[in-house]
Amino acid sequence: MRLLEERIKKDGQVLGQDVLKVDNFLNHQVDPDLMAAMGEEFQRLFKDKKITKILTVESSGIAPAVFAGLSFHVPVVFARKHKSLTLQDNMYSATVYSYTKKVNNHISISKKFLNADDRVLVIDDFLANGQAVEGLLSIIEEAGAQLEGVGIIIEKTFQKGRELLDQRGIQVESLARIAAFEDGQVVFLDENK
Ligand code: 5GP
Repeated sequence: MRLLEERIKKDGQVLGQDVLKVDNFLNHQVDPDLMAAMGEEFQRLFKDKKITKILTVESSGIAPAVFAGLSFHVPVVFARKHKSLTLQDNMYSATVYSYTKKVNNHISISKKFLNADDRVLVIDDFLANGQAVEGLLSIIEEAGAQLEGVGIIIEKTFQKGRELLDQRGIQVESLARIAAFEDGQVVFLDENK
């Protein structure tokens, strides 16, 4: 998505070898016009699916997920993060290793908000090693709901998340696909084509 790629070039900061900071429009300050455009783009990409619910993880997934929900006119549920694993009968839960924080988070969703009739679109801000998405997928499985696809704002194609999801035959649509960071600059996958 051209608009997003331009914004990443303008405002993204490369940290170390493999982290992109986008707190100017996505992870801290949020640009609602850009979020709305991305929500519409997800709707276009998954228009043939009968999505009944959008699932994400707090906190960075919430803004893009809500705008996607607005485009599909379906509810948005975000998994909550906890430090300790306290299993409860009324919750679905999973353990997720956080790539940026290097800690295990436990995520959970109330059984009230996800059931076997749901056809789910997962939305997240980044796809790196795929742990966050895998956690949501295991919750969807536990609920007996149907996964319709995964929508990602920024995919880092050099990490293993995409491969994991492709192997499972999941439709993954990323609005920006980063091939590499070179000298502190972002290189998109199709940039030189
Ligand atoms: P994964 O679970 O795919 O390894 O990592 C995805 C999660 O880690 C995302 O939900 C996001 O919060 C965080 N993350 C991974 N890579 C980056 C990055 O380069 N920049 C930022 N800001 N967050 C990232």
